[in-house]
Amino acid sequence: MNQLNPPSRLLMGPGPSNAAPEVLRAMSTPLLGHLDPAFLHIMNETMDLLRTVYQTDNKVTLAMSGTGSAGMETLFVNLVEPDDKVIICVNGLFGHRMVDVASRCGAEVIEVHAPWGEIIQPEDVKRTLSKHPEVKLVGIVHAETSTGVKQPLDEISTIVHEHDALLVADMVTSLGGSPTEIDKIGVDAAYSGTQKCLSIPPGLAPVTLNDRAVEVISNRKTKVQSWYLDLSMIQNYWSDERFYHHTAPISMIYALREGLRLIVDEGLENVYARHERYGRALQAGLEALGLELVVKNAQHRLCQLTSVKVPEGFDEANGRKYLLDEYGLEFGGGLGELKGKAWRIGLMGYNANWRNVTFALAALENSLRTQGLEVNQGAGIAAAQSALQNL
Ligand SMILES: *Cc1c(COP(=O)(O)O)cnc(C)c1O
Repeated sequence: MNQLNPPSRLLMGPGPSNAAPEVLRAMSTPLLGHLDPAFLHIMNETMDLLRTVYQTDNKVTLAMSGTGSAGMETLFVNLVEPDDKVIICVNGLFGHRMVDVASRCGAEVIEVHAPWGEIIQPEDVKRTLSKHPEVKLVGIVHAETSTGVKQPLDEISTIVHEHDALLVADMVTSLGGSPTEIDKIGVDAAYSGTQKCLSIPPGLAPVTLNDRAVEVISNRKTKVQSWYLDLSMIQNYWSDERFYHHTAPISMIYALREGLRLIVDEGLENVYARHERYGRALQAGLEALGLELVVKNAQHRLCQLTSVKVPEGFDEANGRKYLLDEYGLEFGGGLGELKGKAWRIGLMGYNANWRNVTFALAALENSLRTQGLEVNQGAGIAAAQSALQNL
């Protein structure tokens, strides 16, 4: 058998995005035992970096073994007990997943909906909470990767806390791409994943919980159903006690430390500004190619993930195959309501740069032409360039 040799790809879909070279190098450094003092030191540094990037002082800020969905499951399985009432906001695929996860924990789920491509309206959360004052928590997606919607959280946080509930946020695609402001906004618990804007392979789910959320867990009447995801046990390993729970995925923790270090070294504000600049430039370029963005309100668009509608009569799957075969370029397809109708284009972390914007626009322009669409040559790149100058 030959040695493993996967093709080189530019991953501009909804994740995984390309890992930073420094991260891949860190992953190939020698293993340590998971209770080695040198490794424990690396874990402490990783927790500090994670607090900085999450913008929080929360003591309980650590990485769960597993992908972003394990982070989702961690928060629900720990915070929810059977028959608890929870509100889940649904305006895309990941809101639906939250409903599924919460109901598997035995919660009675009340859904607040908004159309795909739009934000959840604070008034709708308020009205639903007034009707169900005993609700324990409200779950919401901060960056809906299935549509490209950026959800404002300030007003919803105030409403949730007026009703003495917890605010739980999915920050899988926002962490490291746009401000998360856990403490400033008052998000009680959040989870994320490594393969979106952190420029790390998939495999860890960073979570953070404030004292209110931790207290809810301490006051549980029933044992957490999942042994693997039981935060009180995991916390004993990540705390000074260093109690063995399960073997930490050593190389992934190296990767996390390195990916976070790169973000902190660049500076959070610079990282956010870079995503903003190139995301806006890409969006201007797509519109100049005659394409329609899924999120109509420009203020509610994510910069790290843009959903764009496939033109009438264009074969979406073939178009994507062409990009992969001819350019080694991966876009994401639409999910759920948008299946076959949209592309999802990511500019996440390490990938958020000008070279990728121009490359993607040029490749997409050619792909449109192969299926007979008329496109003004170079219009996308020209519009992206002028958007960049005006930002
Ligand atoms: C990717 C993603 C998830 C799921 O993460 P996995 O790493 O695929 O388990 C959850 N929520 C959002 C918003 C995501 O973008």
